[in-house]
Amino acid sequence: MGKILVTGGAGYIGSHVVKKLGEENFDILVVDNLSNGYKEAVTYGELLVGDIGDQKVLDKIFENQIDGILHFAGSIIVPESVEKPELYYQNNTENSLKLISRAVKENVKGFIFSSTAAVYGESKKEIVTEEDQVAPTNPYGASKLMTERMLQDISNVRDLNYVIFRYFNVAGSSDCGKLGIRGENATHLMKVCAQAATKKRESMTIFGTDWDTKDGTGVRDYIHVEDLADVHVLGIKHLLAGGDSALLNCGYTQGYSVKEVVSEFKKVSGVDFSAIEGERRAGDIGCLIANSEKAKSLLGWTPKKNQIETIVKSAFEWEKKI
Ligand code: UDP
Repeated sequence: MGKILVTGGAGYIGSHVVKKLGEENFDILVVDNLSNGYKEAVTYGELLVGDIGDQKVLDKIFENQIDGILHFAGSIIVPESVEKPELYYQNNTENSLKLISRAVKENVKGFIFSSTAAVYGESKKEIVTEEDQVAPTNPYGASKLMTERMLQDISNVRDLNYVIFRYFNVAGSSDCGKLGIRGENATHLMKVCAQAATKKRESMTIFGTDWDTKDGTGVRDYIHVEDLADVHVLGIKHLLAGGDSALLNCGYTQGYSVKEVVSEFKKVSGVDFSAIEGERRAGDIGCLIANSEKAKSLLGWTPKKNQIETIVKSAFEWEKKI
């Protein structure tokens, strides 16, 4: 058996997947440029520090026999993508093409791509299936959607199967207490609330109270990072066993509003932090919830941490720790 390559394996989601793969005795090679990742987060396997956009790094990677790839490396912040679209098309689209092309050449058996619910954009439906219309409203979503298409088109004519996972809103941290979201410049709601609840910031802003949702604030489907890591392990096993390509949503089919998340954080922490009602944020949408029946039926995925209280507690405990 060859190795499993995990790009971005020192980052938030990648590091959780590396841990689960390690626990199942996979031979792992992590490649991360450490722009958002941390060496200490790589709890299994070998770490190669470098950028997958760099030809020399790709050459180094493929000195190993790579059987499967989980491709997490990329840029992930919606408002930043609006400000710096070039960066997003380079990191998420151009560099992915380099990796996919090389994977084909090197006879890699399976490729897992981390995509995003942001590809749906402002959906006409509250709960979206993989067949629903895609219409990203920001460069982040567009850059991921382009990579999905490249992977599908290439897979149609080459010997490379894929699983594309469209993540909804990932949150929480590992029970082991070693892994979670780091970084000071938080933009994601769960992280921002965790900082407010631990008094690392004085207040947080609710971006828009005039959305067409249950209480006027944005509604999202928050998924615990450990459940997300589980589905990746199932995905790579599926591909290594010769399974067909698939495009799969990852969420819980439950939507929580910004106000509901804020109030859960206040309850869990006992801290009544200030939540200021502000304007909508550029590139945002009102509501997005996943239908994830396909991931469950195809891969036998069973979410275990789908309580908002569990997710919020986990995010809060991690924030207290760091
Ligand atoms: N949000 C907010 N205040 C913040 C960060 C986010 O009100 O400080 C809202 C945002 O407008 C959206 C939801 O929380 O409705 C989730 O945003 P996040 O950035 O966490 O993820 P996204 O869905 O944009 O990928």
